[in-house]
Amino acid sequence: NKGFVLASRPPAGGKATLDNFAPFEEETGDPGPGEVLVRHAFLSLDPYMRGRMDDGPSYAASQEIGKPMIGATVGEVVASRNPGFSVGDKVLGMGGWRLYARDDAALLRKVDASRAPLQAFLGALGMPGITAWIGMHTIIAPKPGETVVVSAATGAVGSVVGQLAVAAGARAVGIAGGAEKCAYAVKELGFDACLDRHSPTFAADLKAAAPKGIDGLFENAGGRIFGACLRRLNTFARVAICGLISSYEGEETSSLPDLRLVLVRRLRIEGLIVFDRMDLWPQAQADLTALYAGGKLKWRESVSDGLDSAPKAFLDLLAGKNFGKQLVRLP
Ligand code: NDP
Repeated sequence: NKGFVLASRPPAGGKATLDNFAPFEEETGDPGPGEVLVRHAFLSLDPYMRGRMDDGPSYAASQEIGKPMIGATVGEVVASRNPGFSVGDKVLGMGGWRLYARDDAALLRKVDASRAPLQAFLGALGMPGITAWIGMHTIIAPKPGETVVVSAATGAVGSVVGQLAVAAGARAVGIAGGAEKCAYAVKELGFDACLDRHSPTFAADLKAAAPKGIDGLFENAGGRIFGACLRRLNTFARVAICGLISSYEGEETSSLPDLRLVLVRRLRIEGLIVFDRMDLWPQAQADLTALYAGGKLKWRESVSDGLDSAPKAFLDLLAGKNFGKQLVRLP
């Protein structure tokens, strides 16, 4: 078996580099009692992994040095000593950055790969899609005719947010990096408008795209752009703070609005962590799967090939170079 461990931590508040990861090899071994051996087909790369590389306090424990990089995986059972799993079963797990994982079956979930491509369970039909669904249902709750703005709009979470907003009859305004991503958001995902976060006239662009102000802000990025969006919030607007990727490596800071604005506009600003609402996962997954089956949920993938491509693909994700859900395809 082969994989990557976290070899060292990035400097405090600084950028991760390829040296932070090191390859390892190990005996794959046979599954022990109750265990299952899974051959991974795809690794998921997710922004939260950057937070785990640091030592500081966060909502999740930090990743231990010398241990395989954590991460969600989908694959196929190739040996089983658990009555609940058979060879050939397709499973979702937390196998980490490696080719095979010998997992405690309690950490695995069977997925029905006849309903959607296996890797969808790492993206729109998995944790990122569920994040979007929970934020939209429990915080943003858009009404028809309202305006919902989402950053990182073509990414794994943002693309689902936009489509849920459209399905709810709201005006969906995306924010994405560059003209190509924005064109995709409008033409393929059905956003009403999409703004380039690099535009020198961003504040004016936002005003034109959301002329009636913002009722729901689903925040994935933070920083300067977030500040511009806060200034356009309507009375009784809801803000879901889902991610602040622009500051994961220290460059941009995001400050909350003046509390006077919160009071005067009666804003609701709430942090969102998808794992706090495990009770909603089955409903979210069923709803997203039904939307997909009905042709109302689309997504894009950024696929990098081979285990060795994982560290570079991860750094590219942190730099915003991915276009859609970032995956690593294994042979
Ligand atoms: P994405 O597929 O959206 O990829 C990240 C995207 O962030 C990039 O492609 C880039 O898109 C965008 N981005 C915006 N600003 C920057 C910046 N300054 N530097 C780099 N990238 C930037 O990832 P996910 O959909 O997986 O995650 C989106 C956000 O949701 C992240 O902040 C993540 O941490 C968060 N998240 C939170 C969860 C929770 O439970 N709270 C669960 C899952 C994800 P572009 O260039 O188009 O702007």
